[in-house]
Amino acid sequence: MNPGTADVVVVGAGIVGVCAAAELAERGAKVVLLEKESGPAREGSGRAQGSLRVQGRHGSELALAREALDRWHAAAQDGDFELVRGGNLYLQTRPEEATLLTALVDEARRVGFDSVELLTPDQVREHVPAATGDFLGAMWSPTDAQCQPDQGTAHFAARAERHGADLRYGAKATRLIETGGRIRGVDTANGPIHAGAVVLAGGVWTPYLARTVGLRVPIMPVVMSELETEPVEPLFAATLRAFGFGARQRPNGQVVVSAGLNARVRHGVSLSDLDGLRHWAPRAWSFRKSIGLRLDWRRIGQQIRHRKVIHPALIPDTSPEPTVDLPLVDASLARLATVIPALRTARRARSWGGLVDMTPDGLPIIDAPGPAGLVTITGLCGHGFTLGPALGATAADLATTGRTERDLTAFTLNRFDGKVAQPQLLI
Ligand SMILES: Cc1cc2nc3c(=O)[nH]c(=O)nc-3n(C[C@H](O)[C@H](O)[C@H](O)COP(=O)(O)OP(=O)(O)OC[C@H]3O[C@@H](n4cnc5c(N)ncnc54)[C@H](O)[C@@H]3O)c2cc1C
Repeated sequence: MNPGTADVVVVGAGIVGVCAAAELAERGAKVVLLEKESGPAREGSGRAQGSLRVQGRHGSELALAREALDRWHAAAQDGDFELVRGGNLYLQTRPEEATLLTALVDEARRVGFDSVELLTPDQVREHVPAATGDFLGAMWSPTDAQCQPDQGTAHFAARAERHGADLRYGAKATRLIETGGRIRGVDTANGPIHAGAVVLAGGVWTPYLARTVGLRVPIMPVVMSELETEPVEPLFAATLRAFGFGARQRPNGQVVVSAGLNARVRHGVSLSDLDGLRHWAPRAWSFRKSIGLRLDWRRIGQQIRHRKVIHPALIPDTSPEPTVDLPLVDASLARLATVIPALRTARRARSWGGLVDMTPDGLPIIDAPGPAGLVTITGLCGHGFTLGPALGATAADLATTGRTERDLTAFTLNRFDGKVAQPQLLI
C-alpha cells in the first residue's frame, strides 16, 4: 500500500536517513522512509569500521562530530547496541607525521577539545599495555568511542518506528517531484508519495535522484575494505588509527581492521565520471597512489543501454557486493601486529568492502539548495558514520523550518561552482 502522503519523505536507511526519520518522528512529523534494500544499514552504514571519531577531522566538522558523540552516548543508554568509550589513539609510525599531529591537536583545541593531547610511547602504553612494538608517539582523544555500526543504525531505525515513522524496505525512490520551485514529494514504483519536504540521504546514489530536479551533486563512489579477526584476548579498548592500519577491538574479542591513513580505494570508471571531470581529474591525480582505477564495463553497458549516465534507472534495486582488497587488509593486520605483537597469530574471520561517497574536497554536502523543501546530505567521505545523529537533527531542522543553528557554510553544494581545495587525507 502506498501511504500517499507524508509531512516528510526520507530517502535512505543508512545512519543519516534513520537518524533524520527518528528525529522528525520525535518532533511529531508524519514520516515515510524509503529504502531500496531489504533492511537498514545494507550499504555504507553497515560496512563502516565503527570508529566514532572526533579526532583528526577537518576543523569545520569538529562541532558536528562533538554534538554527534554526545548524541551517540545518550542513545547508548538504551543498551540495545554495542558502544565502547575507549578513546582514540592516532599512532605516529613515521617521523614526518609529527607536524600533522601537532596541527590536528591545535585545531581540536581551537574548538574546545582541550582533552586532545600528544603522548610519548610510554604514555601510550599506559592506555594500551599490549602496544609493545614500534611507534613514535600518538595523538590521544579520550572522549572518542566505537560502536557496532549495523546495530547503531538499527537502534535509530527502531526509534523512528517507535515514534510512528513508516519505514519501507525494498522501496526505491525513482524521482523527486517538484513544481513551482517547491518539492512536492517522490515517485516510487508504487506511485507518488506527496510531501512538503524530502530528506535525500541516499549515500553514493544521491546524485541520481538529485539530478531529477536539476541538481548536480559531485560524488565519486569508491570501495574501501575491512576485515574482522577471530576473537582474541582483550588487548585494547581505544580505537587505533595509524598510517598503515585502523583498528578497534569489539567486546567479544574480534578485532576490526582497515588500512587506516594509508587507505587504498578502488573506483570503477564509467561514463558518469565525465560529468564531474574537472573535479575528479585533480582529485584522482593528487591521490594517484591511493585510488586504483579500472574500467567498469558493466556500468558502461548499462549507461549505453539507458542512453543516460546519471539517471534513477541506473540505481540498482540491490547493490552488488563490492570486491574486497584482501592483500591490503591482510597487510594492515600485519602492520597492526608490529605495534601489538600479540596479534601476530590473529586470523582473519571475515572481510568486506563498502562504498564510500567521496567529494572533491573531502568535506560533506549538508545543504538545502532548492527546490524549497529538499534537504541533501551526502558525501561523507568515509568518516560520516560518526556524524549520523547530528546530521539527523540537522536534517530535521532544515526539513521543518528551512534553517538550523549549526554552521553549515563549509558544506554547501554551491562551493563546487568554484575551485575547491584538495584535502590532505583521502579518508
Ligand atoms: C569500509 C568502510 C569503513 C568506514 N568506517 C567508518 C568509521 O569507522 N567511522 C565513520 O564515522 N565512518 C566510516 N565509514 C563511512 C560511513 O560508513 C558513511 O559515511 C556513512 O555510513 C554514510 O551514511 P549514509 O546514511 O549517508 O549512507 P548509506 O549508509 O550508504 O545509506 C544510504 C542508503 O540509501 C539507500 N538508497 C539510495 N538511493 C535510494 C533510492 N533511490 N531509494 C531508496 N533507497 C535508496 C541505499 O540503499 C542506502 O541504504 C566507513 C565506510 C566504509 C565503506
